[in-house]
Amino acid sequence: MKCRWLMIGVVAISLHAHPQCYVQGYGDLVAHANETTLTLKNGASFPYKTAAPKTTWDDKINSADLEMQLSQTYDAGGIETPPEYLFDPGRLRYQPFFQALYGKDKKEIEKNLVTISWPTLKSSIKLPVNNVGGVDKKLYLIGQEISKLPKADRLWAEGATTYAYRVIKDTDRLSMHSFGIAIDLAPTTTQYWKDEASSETAHIGYKNTMPLSIVRIFEKHGFIWGGRWYHYDTMHFEYRPELFAPGCTSKK
Ligand SMILES: [Zn+2]
Repeated sequence: MKCRWLMIGVVAISLHAHPQCYVQGYGDLVAHANETTLTLKNGASFPYKTAAPKTTWDDKINSADLEMQLSQTYDAGGIETPPEYLFDPGRLRYQPFFQALYGKDKKEIEKNLVTISWPTLKSSIKLPVNNVGGVDKKLYLIGQEISKLPKADRLWAEGATTYAYRVIKDTDRLSMHSFGIAIDLAPTTTQYWKDEASSETAHIGYKNTMPLSIVRIFEKHGFIWGGRWYHYDTMHFEYRPELFAPGCTSKK
């Protein structure tokens, strides 16, 4: 039995995140990627690694490159164990990549927004979502699946908001809501790390009330959940398919 366990243990070790995570995750949008360059099908091209400093946590969060964006692997597992100190898979982002995909500024992004219907307990609401790469269709399907859950779970999908062109609180980095690829749910009954601490490197106690049933539906469609971050944002989900591509997650 011990050997069997060890074998399972070996199989469970993930492959390292690699440039192909972008090609696999974004399908039709990324033409090719290697350790030097990532090129989109629309012609935009980026260095895979930049010379930006990545020494301190503040350096990392403020100037992550495409390599660093994959450096913390997302684990779509249970929620029994709170995230480790400064473990924020998906929160390290290279902003020019998202601007090239979804729109470089407010005007260009808004041209790509379409409206989807999001079911609520009483009826439904309309939400603006980016249609590049079919994010709108995925979020629509998520809403449909959530509407089949028991009422006690569905309560956590109320009060949904998506697009808002804004920077992340106390930073000059654009929120993923600016691109129309993120959604917040149950804003008054969920938890945000900034309500407990102001510094990125502070020691923060983890809190969450979002049920795993909702989280699982989002993850199935390529959306990460902010509740898997040390800097928890439990109302928040965003479309990040590179973190679910084969060989790119913690779970096999
Ligand atoms: Zn959010």
